[in-house]
Amino acid sequence: MTKKLYLDHQYLREFSSTILQKVEAGKNPGIILEQTLFYPASGGQPRDTGTVNDIPVLDVFEDEKHGIVHLLAEPVAGEAVEGRINWQRRFDHMQQHTGQHLLSQAFMMAGNAATVSFHMGDESSTLDLNQGNFSIEAIAAVEDLANQIIYENRPVMSRIIRKNELDQYPVRKLPSVDDNIRIVEIKDFDYSPCGGTHCSKTGEIGIVKIRRFENYKGGSRIHFLCGLRALKDYQEKSNIIKQIGDCLSAGETDLYNNIKKYRDELKSLRREHSNLNKRYLNYEAQALFSERKEIDNINIIVKIFEDRHPKELKILAQKVLQNFPDTLILFGAKAEGKASLFFLRSEGLACDMGKLMQDACAVINGRGGGRPQQAQGGGPATDKLDAALQCAYLNLAGILTGNK
Ligand SMILES: [Zn+2]
Repeated sequence: MTKKLYLDHQYLREFSSTILQKVEAGKNPGIILEQTLFYPASGGQPRDTGTVNDIPVLDVFEDEKHGIVHLLAEPVAGEAVEGRINWQRRFDHMQQHTGQHLLSQAFMMAGNAATVSFHMGDESSTLDLNQGNFSIEAIAAVEDLANQIIYENRPVMSRIIRKNELDQYPVRKLPSVDDNIRIVEIKDFDYSPCGGTHCSKTGEIGIVKIRRFENYKGGSRIHFLCGLRALKDYQEKSNIIKQIGDCLSAGETDLYNNIKKYRDELKSLRREHSNLNKRYLNYEAQALFSERKEIDNINIIVKIFEDRHPKELKILAQKVLQNFPDTLILFGAKAEGKASLFFLRSEGLACDMGKLMQDACAVINGRGGGRPQQAQGGGPATDKLDAALQCAYLNLAGILTGNK
C-alpha cells in the first residue's frame, strides 16, 4: 500500500519514490508508488497535478484494487522516480479545504446548520447545508466568526485515532472509515474526520468570503472563496465598480443612488417615448390616408418605407384602420438588405390578402402568406419591391372592379 506523504507533509513539493507496480489504465500507463505526495481526488478536494520524472501526471485516483494510481502521459523507464506536485494548485486546495472546515463549523455555531456536502470547483467552492432561508445578517455573522478564527492564527493539527476513542472528540460529523480515523482539528474550534490536505495555521487561509447563497433541496447552498481566490475576486469586483463609477461619473458610495436615479429616469423616458410615438403614429396615419387611392369608395394605401422595421409597420397599419374604415393597406419596406411586405384590410371587405401576398412575394423572389384580413412576407429582391406592390395593387383593383 502506498504511503500517503501528503497527510503528514502537506508542505513538501518534491519527493523520491520507487515504483511498486505498473498497471494499464485505459490508453495511458499507470504506476503505483511506494510513497507519494500526489493527492487523489477525494472528499470534495480535487487531485494534485504535477510530474513524475518530468512526465506529466494526467490523473491520480484511488481504487480498491491498486490503492493510489498515477496515470502518466507516457511510460516511465526504470524503478526510481522523482515526483513534483504543482504547488500553486495544492496550496490553493489547502486554503479552500481548511476554509471549508472553518466555515462548516461557523455555520454550525452561528447558524445552527450542518454541512451535508462540500464541492471544490476550479473557481468557486460550495457547501450544502441542512438549513435554509438565511438572512444577509446571519450570513455576515457566520463570515465574521470564520474570519475571526483566521486572524487568531490557530494551529490546524491532525491525529490518527481508533474508533473507540472517537467519543473523546466533539466531531462535527461521523467518519466514513472504521479504523485509523484521521481527525483534523482547528484548535479548540473544529474537529472533523478528514483525509485531505490542510494549512497548518488558520492564518494561511487568508480570508473566507461567501459570494452568494441560495435555498437548495430543502436546505441551502453556499458559494464561497478562500485565500488568493477571494483576493482575485475582490480585485475583479473593484475593477467592475470602478468601471461603473467611471461610466456614471460617480464615486463608489454614490453608485447605488446614481443607478437608481438613472433607472427611474429611463422608466420615465420610456413612458414619454411611448406616448410621443403613439401621437406620431396618429399624425403619420393621417398623412398616409391623405395620399390614398380610391376604387368604388374603398380606400387603398400603397407605400414603401426605407429602414422601417416590419413590426412597426404593422402597428402603423393597424393605427390607420382604427381611424379610417373601408381601407386596404399595401405596405412594403426595405431594411437590413431585405424586402418585406405587410398587407392589412378593414373587416368586411371582400378580398383575400393572403392570396395577394403570395403573388407579390413571388416578384421579390420570397415567400409569404396569411389570413384573408392580414398577411406578411419577405424576399431578397429589394429592387423589385415597387413591382411587387404594383402587382398587388393591380390584382386588388381587378378584384374590386369585378374583373378578377
Ligand atoms: Zn479536510
